Amino acid sequence: MAEYKCKYCSEKFAKPLDLARHVRMQHKRAKKRAKKAAVKPEPAPMSMAFEAMGVLKGLQASPNLSDAEKKLLGDVAKTVEGLVPKSK
Ligand SMILES: [Zn+2]
Repeated sequence: MAEYKCKYCSEKFAKPLDLARHVRMQHKRAKKRAKKAAVKPEPAPMSMAFEAMGVLKGLQASPNLSDAEKKLLGDVAKTVEGLVPKSK
């Protein structure tokens, strides 16, 4: 009878389906988790929020704004501020 050997831990299985399930349960998930822990990407949405805050602060400091524009910028700034966790 043919045997299907796990390439990760050399455990033997009678059916390819059992081997596939074993690999999926025992190896694929652990591998994925390890990869996830190793790679820590920059949280893009958060850095974008900080960037947007900087742009808004710059716009609000502009002397040529109408009251309506100032109010609009203030509202947008408040919305963006809500996305940024308080750090200080
Ligand atoms: Zn295995």
